Amino acid sequence: MNTSELDRRYLAHTYNRFPMELSEGSGSLVRDTDGKTYIDLGSGIAVNIFGLNDAQWKAAVTAQLGKFQHCSNLYYSAPTATLAQMLCERTGMSRVFFSNSGAEANECAIKAARKWGAEQKGAEYYNIVTLKHGFHGRTLATLAATGQDVYHKDYQPLPEGFLYATAGDRAELERLVKEHKCAALMFEAVQGEGGVMPIGQDYADALREIAEKYDLLLIADEVQLGNGRSGHLYGYIEYGLQPDIVTTAKGLGGGLPIGATLFGARTAEVLQPGDHGSTFGGNPTCCAGAVNILSRIDEKLLAGVRERSDYIFRTLSGCKGIQSVSGMGLMLGLEVEKPAREFAELALQKGVLVTTAKQKIRLLPALNIPMELLETAVQKLIECAAE
Ligand SMILES: *Cc1c(COP(=O)(O)O)cnc(C)c1O
Repeated sequence: MNTSELDRRYLAHTYNRFPMELSEGSGSLVRDTDGKTYIDLGSGIAVNIFGLNDAQWKAAVTAQLGKFQHCSNLYYSAPTATLAQMLCERTGMSRVFFSNSGAEANECAIKAARKWGAEQKGAEYYNIVTLKHGFHGRTLATLAATGQDVYHKDYQPLPEGFLYATAGDRAELERLVKEHKCAALMFEAVQGEGGVMPIGQDYADALREIAEKYDLLLIADEVQLGNGRSGHLYGYIEYGLQPDIVTTAKGLGGGLPIGATLFGARTAEVLQPGDHGSTFGGNPTCCAGAVNILSRIDEKLLAGVRERSDYIFRTLSGCKGIQSVSGMGLMLGLEVEKPAREFAELALQKGVLVTTAKQKIRLLPALNIPMELLETAVQKLIECAAE
């Protein structure tokens, strides 16, 4: 059997894969096993932020592999401590807990918010308000935090303690936190899986003001938008927010699994010895790669992200077959006339890899995609939309 036959025979059928098998890549170019080359506008869903086969990241990872690949959290390891320091110094946060994925980073945030609520306000203050059309992960608690019924129906009962607010509706948010005993508000600055929709400055202000007024934690889920993709180090910066907890994952590892939960001044001491843990969390190989990734997310790179973003907005807005362009930085959604899956398959045929989010085409290119490649890919998207 070939790879696709083996996959369909032996893997749990949880994904509808596109008919393409990767063989290798370099930067934003990917080659399949038939020798066809594609321009990658998906980055493995916002993971490979410096593209494939990135020399600097590989050197950082292999240098660590040459020392030791893993050590338990019973001992100190330099890459882990250094990454935590970098994350704190660059965000103003105070402490970090490392895990292996976005869902785990959010699970940790939820646990910490509940413990904080119980300690600071009382045991019944456990509710967390999240947003409808949000996405926070696939574990039971993060599914419960995900305000989309489609993901809930087969997994009842889910952990209780989550309320769903409509992004943009300040009055509803205030009513929810008045009527229920809450610990936190949890949000994505740009709803990714939910359709690449920024929450907007007004609603960001509402989140901040209501969190202050009702003594709630603000939890920013920066799993997809974070680590430079927004055009800032983290997307909440665009809205002038200072969350109490920030979660991130995807791009931080540059291709190796990592999750991070960052705690601000109000939450820094919530988790104490024995309260939480992860065998692989803070794995030195993943952290060594992430130190390299984070050290390269500087003002110059961020300016490049914003420039590429402007170019895509400018060029695709108003094109035939494209109803709107939404998003922030290099996390962009195209509302297209064709069904999104059909559009993505056409793009694949034309040699461009895109992902979908609900009925939209979602673009998540590498942050350093060369301008010429981006221009070529965008022209092909225009063709796809017009056909
Ligand atoms: C992808 C994603 C998650 C889940 O991350 P995993 O690494 O797949 O567990 C959580 N929140 C947001 C906003 C995401 O985009």
